Amino acid sequence: MNVPYLHSAAWVVPVNGAPIRNGAVIVQDDRIVAIGTATELHTRFPEAGLHDHGKAALTPALVNAHTHIELANLAELAETQSGGFIPWVMRLMALRKRRIAEDPQGTAARNASLQECARHSAEGVSVLADIGNSNLALEIMGHFPGTLLSFHEHLGLSEKTLARNLARLESEPKNRLCSGHAPYSTHPALLQALKERARRLGQVLPIHTAEPLSELEFLRSASGPMADFILGYTGMIGVFQPLISPAEGSVHYLDRLGLLDAQTLCVHAVHVSEAELELLAASGAKVCLCPTSNRFLEVGRASAARFLAHGILPALGTDSQASSPGLSLWQEMRLLAEEEPDLDPAQIFAMATLGGAQALGLEEDYGTLSPGRKADILVVPLQEPAPATAEALLQTLVGQQLSAVSRIGEKNHENRANKA
Ligand SMILES: [Zn+2]
Repeated sequence: MNVPYLHSAAWVVPVNGAPIRNGAVIVQDDRIVAIGTATELHTRFPEAGLHDHGKAALTPALVNAHTHIELANLAELAETQSGGFIPWVMRLMALRKRRIAEDPQGTAARNASLQECARHSAEGVSVLADIGNSNLALEIMGHFPGTLLSFHEHLGLSEKTLARNLARLESEPKNRLCSGHAPYSTHPALLQALKERARRLGQVLPIHTAEPLSELEFLRSASGPMADFILGYTGMIGVFQPLISPAEGSVHYLDRLGLLDAQTLCVHAVHVSEAELELLAASGAKVCLCPTSNRFLEVGRASAARFLAHGILPALGTDSQASSPGLSLWQEMRLLAEEEPDLDPAQIFAMATLGGAQALGLEEDYGTLSPGRKADILVVPLQEPAPATAEALLQTLVGQQLSAVSRIGEKNHENRANKA
């Protein structure tokens, strides 16, 4: 065992408790051993090495619970107005096809994805939940210093391709995480097979849920702009059987298919009724909000306050560079604070940390500063004068453009190297 290290700072933000002024964290062998005031921990751990980070806040590393790094080379889509969800999807598919034709080796796509990973890491994100149709994320996983969960996305609504799509799912290696694209694009039997597999293997299953309003109309009546788009794209006619009534929504649909449990992650969840919030809460299903992408794609706004009122702590995700101009989890927090000024900033910061960790089943390692967790701790510099109250501190964390965030882990290694 290495000597414990006492890291102190003006503020320590445990997330699962109130911020501690003049706080400290004891770190030993890359795990958190204790957290408290610096004075208290000096007394309890007199042998600990000392590192004072001064006017800074120590916080857990961030968790980005939804992105698509393989779309990092489609950032130009987010540079002009989206024109709405379906036109954007059509442009995305066309541009993607063109990029693959231009770059069959995928070198440019790989470089863009690596840059995206480096950017997340530099901004303090240590867990990335990535959705991909290719194996790109698997290939570059080793370059991301944190935990990159790569979900292989399955979709296909047609009855004709169902057997082939089920066989493809069946052939996935056991350790491969999988996701379902969306209720409007994925055959109900394929969604059920995905959930059955995820349950059997103890894996989380992410699904884009209730993102555009047109999804609801499609699920209710197999009509509307989404139906027109799918029919135009696949040539399928009349294969989709509505399972829900006109008063119900996407969450009802997933519930009817038996898909909701504590390891299902509903991403976006923009159009969700009170009855559906109750269903989500009762099942323990998780939710990931993507405020920037929602705004860009003009799909509507998911109110975090409504989820919180039902005891659901949402996770936050950036979604891809194709719909998320700026791509930053800090930006997601700022946008949420701006859109919902009554939200408690402590809850916004909890979404970007604990909410994400819980959504991905990683709360034993990430999400809070508490004993046993990985010592993946951010050092967020605070401007003069440092916030005087816990509330002011949290407002600063979620509401301001912050300068260079670093990690104590990096400094630990430096310390060890210096000692050696
Ligand atoms: Zn997405």
